[in-house]
Amino acid sequence: MALKGISRKDFIKTSALGVTGFMTAPSLLGFNGTVAEGKYTTTMVLKNVRLETGFIYEEGEVVATRTGLFCVEINDGVIAKITPYDPAAEGEDAGGMLMLPAFKDMHIHLDKTFYGGPWKAVRKRQGGVKGMIALEQELLSEMLKTSTHRAEKIVELLQSRGTAFARSHVNIEPTSGMKSLENLEKALQHKKGGFGAELVAFPQHGIYYTDSAGLMAEAAAMDSIGYIGGLDPYTIDGNIERSVDFMVRLALDHNKGIDMHLHETGDSGLRTVTYLIEKVNENPKLRNRTFLSHCFVLGKIPVSKQEEIAEKLAHSGIGVISTIPFGGLVMPLPTLYKYGVDVATGNDSIIDHWNTWGSGSVLEKANLMAQLYGYRTEFDLSRSLKLATHNILPLDDEGNRQWPKAGDEASVVLVDASCSAEAVSRISPVHSLLYRGQVVF
Ligand SMILES: [Zn+2]
Repeated sequence: MALKGISRKDFIKTSALGVTGFMTAPSLLGFNGTVAEGKYTTTMVLKNVRLETGFIYEEGEVVATRTGLFCVEINDGVIAKITPYDPAAEGEDAGGMLMLPAFKDMHIHLDKTFYGGPWKAVRKRQGGVKGMIALEQELLSEMLKTSTHRAEKIVELLQSRGTAFARSHVNIEPTSGMKSLENLEKALQHKKGGFGAELVAFPQHGIYYTDSAGLMAEAAAMDSIGYIGGLDPYTIDGNIERSVDFMVRLALDHNKGIDMHLHETGDSGLRTVTYLIEKVNENPKLRNRTFLSHCFVLGKIPVSKQEEIAEKLAHSGIGVISTIPFGGLVMPLPTLYKYGVDVATGNDSIIDHWNTWGSGSVLEKANLMAQLYGYRTEFDLSRSLKLATHNILPLDDEGNRQWPKAGDEASVVLVDASCSAEAVSRISPVHSLLYRGQVVF
């Protein structure tokens, strides 16, 4: 069989069917697979790839980023070798595009979306999160009919924006039971060769506000679940300790992480943060695998308190995942970074009954962060890329190349930019995406 001329759709279909072995791959890059006796070769060489090699300084300030052209050899899904560009080398020409680590969307709801269906703006909201729970109880049975297909469409959108990995929350509540999870697992199975994901069991209707504890325990025992979710323990469940203790117990019993939605502010929001810090300190197994999503309360407390909490979060290994809100509430992300908190981002909603603003691009989130907090210099813009890649940067702060190196996963994006700083500032177009050595966009 020949790969030459295979369409991207066919290629993704083929890889999703579980063809083992690795492919030198097709389509947008114009790859021609070398096929020996019906088997795919395991090696691909990308030539004419732009990589960052250092910073250029003037009067002690980074004023530009130095790049060079290289050949990148990929073997069995990992980067095997990086050598200077040789125009005569065998391989596929990347046209001088900038190679960056593939992007990661660390907060999205792939199971629950209108994307792929007709346009629908949100209705005026009533009753806060509890009002939204009531709305979901009406909508979910209809949404579940198409949720596998729509999750696949969102995955394709994310791939087209350079994202090869997502942390998706998945509804676990009495209305849909395990059905949201089952449907999403089907979609991810179909996309398996081209997209990575980890799942958070999300009690969207409260653990106790609706009777979800049994379902959560069932989900926590499943291999497909990596994180125990939660939702506004005080405003939804009416008891911070009871709700957080339940999450912590499930996480410890099943060796999972925690990723809790926390929208609530005020005393209860702050108490939830400090109680979670206490619990993680008591249970070091949860360090570096516990996250607060949104955590709006941090944007509503005095600066001195922000500093104190940021330091404690960093010390406990608790990360914060933010969609970079602006307008009514601005998160203290620079303070979180200053203390070394693991900060990540995601689209959350693309288009659903919560909002319709998600573009699918986390590079756009990095741009938004740069605008919001004034990261406008070459150095600051280049650092802002870490929001899109979940902390992987081509250059370290001194300008030494730290990515890619031999042994790194070959999940990379090729963008039409001269350097990271330009990519963030211009939200440069994504040309191609490779997931573990396979071209998926
Ligand atoms: Zn969410």
